[in-house]
Amino acid sequence: MAEKITLVDGVLHVPDEPVIPFIEGDGTGRDIWKASVRVMDAAAAKHGKKIAWKEVLAGQKAFDETGNWLPEETVEGFRDHLIGIKGPLTTPIGGGIRSLNVALRQLLDLYVCLRPVRYFKGVPSPVKSPEKVDMVIFRENTEDVYAGMEVEEGTPEALQLIGYLKEAFGWDIRIDSGIGIKPISRTGSKRLIRAALNYAVENKRSSVNMVHKGNIQKFTEGAFMNWGYDLVREEFSDVAVGWDDCGGKPGSKILVKDSIADITLQQVLTRPDEFDVIATMNLNGDYLSDALAAQIGGIGIAPGGNINYVTGHGVFEATHGTAPKYADLDKVNPGSVILSGVMMFEHLGWKAAAADIITAMEQTISEKIVTYDFARLMDGATEVKCSEFATAIIDRL
Ligand code: NAP
Repeated sequence: MAEKITLVDGVLHVPDEPVIPFIEGDGTGRDIWKASVRVMDAAAAKHGKKIAWKEVLAGQKAFDETGNWLPEETVEGFRDHLIGIKGPLTTPIGGGIRSLNVALRQLLDLYVCLRPVRYFKGVPSPVKSPEKVDMVIFRENTEDVYAGMEVEEGTPEALQLIGYLKEAFGWDIRIDSGIGIKPISRTGSKRLIRAALNYAVENKRSSVNMVHKGNIQKFTEGAFMNWGYDLVREEFSDVAVGWDDCGGKPGSKILVKDSIADITLQQVLTRPDEFDVIATMNLNGDYLSDALAAQIGGIGIAPGGNINYVTGHGVFEATHGTAPKYADLDKVNPGSVILSGVMMFEHLGWKAAAADIITAMEQTISEKIVTYDFARLMDGATEVKCSEFATAIIDRL
């Protein structure tokens, strides 16, 4: 019988047939969703589980059917059922919503953007040793310059703000400037870093690295790092230790360290094995996740999850866009939504079903059965359609 997932005393209770809302997504989202849902259903069935899918609308499909890009019922659907999954959505141009993804994250306060970055054997990669890449990025989702506090150059609001900043702080800002505000709070930083540390403990990871630009932005990015080290001392001293508190020698504990964002972008390329769990703010996390995804096969197979570990809400999603030029051609790689499903299964505690999908997908790719994006980078590949790639995975489950 289909039942809702619930949160009891901070723990998710997942029935054998949970109701899970989904948004298929616009453009290629339609092709990808059809393919991916078959893989998820097959893997779940193998372990005696079933998902009662409940479609909710957002994006172009929602706008065409309801006149609203993000109907209230959709937000309520995710709120009520706790866990959901979505394909890519068209960003409305010139509408009141800057981005549907950002809106959903903010409405449900999904403060962690979780992006695992790991290598699948056989995937074409531009780096020499992609097998060394195995990182999990915790990107803060609700603050930073992404919080949407911006005023446009030349508007009365911008002029008012420039005048105020001159009067109150003596700051000279060019009169023809647009201005964005970058809030980084103690609350927001600590809950993000706490989630990263809990993940590191549960998944037996060896280090958590806080990536920041605190050398320049001391009271935002630098404070993020300081609050992180405080948190380790306050709440995690039995299992983790900060670099300065152990001279870089953590013994059996998780090592918590930090690095400056620019050098980090070099080092994740040159010595990826030194990075494990990464905790960072919104903008750094954005650059870092896409740069890392490029090392292990690109955005066609990059999954993500947006999670609030306190309320139990989670929305898993493809990290690429709608790639409209390929829409309805049954062509693109469904890997990102399939792997978002894997992340969702792991989050639900369906670890064996998740592991089965990964093994089957790895086998499919190592047999060189791949979609166009990988086929063009591999010698001797068999190029298959989006739906055929899914079928090949199901055959190997
Ligand atoms: P995009 O849709 O991510 O596509 C850019 C390129 O990435 C594609 O042309 C394709 O490269 C490659 N690609 C994307 N998905 C792929 C897949 N599943 N398999 C293989 N290759 C894939 O970016 P965009 O064209 O800039 O954006 C299109 C729309 O998506 C916009 O409305 C944008 O706002 C929206 N968007 C949504 C999300 C989201 O919902 N999460 C995220 C980003 C953008 P090749 O041409 O080289 O094959």
